[in-house]
Amino acid sequence: MSPELLNTDVLIVGKGVSGLILQLLLEKKGIHSILIDKVNSKQNLPLAETIPPSTLEILDKIDLLSVFEAFSTKTYGYQSKWNSSQISDENFFLKGKFNNGLKINKQKISTALAEKSKHIIQIKDISEISIKDSNNSLSVKGLNNKLATINCNLIIDATGRKRHILKQANIDNIEYDKNLAYLCYLPKTGPELKYGFFTESFSNAWGTISDLNETTRIVSLYTTKENKLYKDFKDYIKWNTLLNETSFLKYCMPTKGNFKVFGKQANSSIPSQIVFQNVLSIGDAAMAFNPISSHGISNAIYTAKEAATTIEKHLNGNDKSLKDYEEKMYAIFNEYIRQKEKLFQLH
Ligand SMILES: Cc1cc2nc3c(=O)[nH]c(=O)nc-3n(C[C@H](O)[C@H](O)[C@H](O)COP(=O)(O)OP(=O)(O)OC[C@H]3O[C@@H](n4cnc5c(N)ncnc54)[C@H](O)[C@@H]3O)c2cc1C
Repeated sequence: MSPELLNTDVLIVGKGVSGLILQLLLEKKGIHSILIDKVNSKQNLPLAETIPPSTLEILDKIDLLSVFEAFSTKTYGYQSKWNSSQISDENFFLKGKFNNGLKINKQKISTALAEKSKHIIQIKDISEISIKDSNNSLSVKGLNNKLATINCNLIIDATGRKRHILKQANIDNIEYDKNLAYLCYLPKTGPELKYGFFTESFSNAWGTISDLNETTRIVSLYTTKENKLYKDFKDYIKWNTLLNETSFLKYCMPTKGNFKVFGKQANSSIPSQIVFQNVLSIGDAAMAFNPISSHGISNAIYTAKEAATTIEKHLNGNDKSLKDYEEKMYAIFNEYIRQKEKLFQLH
């Protein structure tokens, strides 16, 4: 039996926030797309990501604010002790149209976005990719083990830090640091957090605490592979010693019991080409930020919005639109790297 043949304008690979939002925005513009996502055997951990008020303005413009608000709690700032003897209350939340940010439940938001989307296909694997100037095609193995070929004008790499499509096209990864994240779900212990979020820097590392619900907090410790103690971060039993010199974090660590520590990728990186022939990347695939910067979800939303406009122009014959998108993203990432180097100095 010959494989099923599907045709679409845009094939989106990846069902994260970026891929899902892009599909909804394309549909609004009357552009046909198919979204494919690989079934993931790994546990999808809740990260209680925070987004700032400025991102709420973007969500409002693309009519998705209510979806995010339905599965989030409001945050009004954050407290930090960042290379200083003082604990500071950040008040930039008061500057824009909205005076709160959101701490989101990404899993629930993704489900709600997926329910609005049409044409989502869960796949087992991508078996073959053919990227050409005029037409792209991708063969996939479905959940029923049947093969399908999808022909499209554009392929969107929305596969997050995996950059699956860009990697298949041999596009290099440029890494700007060797940051690592270790997270642990802990019962609430010690002081209340004024805004549900606190961050503190300590020797060659940073730590954040974020309230997940009434009883549980996520504590994330960030360090770099250059820290000779980095392997100790994998073991909760060593956290009390690692956090010994902190002035706040140490009081939030249960001293009894052992807890599982999860490692996550956390470096800042960008592909050497964000756009390649008829492939365009969005979200973490386009630019990955150190999670402590709280940029990832905002970047997923922003790049999806920009990509939707770019794709519309491209399909209407504007040859420059893909390159313009790439230049804009490089400019944003370069500015982030400049700021990060100023702010994220290790002591
Ligand atoms: C510890 C930690 C804390 C964080 N905190 C924050 C925060 O406070 N605020 C914030 O804004 N951001 C935060 N982030 C970052 C944020 O979670 C990500 O930037 C964001 O979710 C990226 O979305 P995305 O759509 O680009 O990619 P992803 O969410 O990674 O989605 C990628 C999708 O691609 C699919 N996929 C992968 N490979 C394939 C393939 N071969 N074929 C088909 N499908 C594939 C996957 O199944 C997945 O569905 C944090 C991240 C970490 C690790």
